[in-house]
Amino acid sequence: MCRHLAYLGPPILLADLLFAPPHSLSRQSWAPGDMRGGGTINADGFGVGWFDGPPEPIRYRRSCPLWSDAGLPALAAATRSGAILAAVRSATEGMPVTETAAAPFGEGRWLFSHNGRVAGWPDSVTVAAGTLPVRDLLTLDAPTDSALLWALTRARLRAGEPPGAALAAVVAQVAAAAPGSRLNLLLTDGESIAATACGHSLSVRAAPGESVLVASEPLGPDPGWIPVPDRSLLVATPQTATITALEGAAS
Ligand code: GLN
Repeated sequence: MCRHLAYLGPPILLADLLFAPPHSLSRQSWAPGDMRGGGTINADGFGVGWFDGPPEPIRYRRSCPLWSDAGLPALAAATRSGAILAAVRSATEGMPVTETAAAPFGEGRWLFSHNGRVAGWPDSVTVAAGTLPVRDLLTLDAPTDSALLWALTRARLRAGEPPGAALAAVVAQVAAAAPGSRLNLLLTDGESIAATACGHSLSVRAAPGESVLVASEPLGPDPGWIPVPDRSLLVATPQTATITALEGAAS
């Protein structure tokens, strides 16, 4: 399954997340440590989104493996941001390998990623999908479970739901319709991070008052990394991080 991360804090280089740490996202693309039976490597595309002044983030996505993008190391070594979301993808069987299927998905100031799969795709979630405006379905980024999860989340954000509540509601809705799904969702607007742990690994490293980093797998041996328990919701800013149980997320 895919690996993803999000950072908020003092500006750092993209390379400080993608390449420099011992278990960087680049390393997690070819040697992930905790895939829980969901694939072996994350070679079906990658993406990074970062905020470079208000209001909208920049997104860079490719359908190739992260390690094979010859231009990325220089870009990552020259780009600094205080709010970053990045992901590497292992496509679920039957789903296309295209740039538009790679996270982060986004609209306005939002960046979103999904690590996991929707069980019984697509039949299990036709009713949930039918709650969306037809236009949203016609303009999905890609015919994938992750793109639908983003569309479901985006509809709630557009309606004014807070990010944590929106993610929790989507997980409850999809877990009920498609039991056994793995629904690790990650969302940021550059000021806060909301993330679910539901079927996959997730860890957080917080330096309260300074920075917060959330990732599928710790980026190194630093003892500051704390595992987020399964079936929980994390909402974090550089100042505070709270973890609460997800209702209705039994998998
Ligand atoms: N199922 C999603 C996709 O195919 C995410 C895959 C993953 O987490 N590996 O894009």
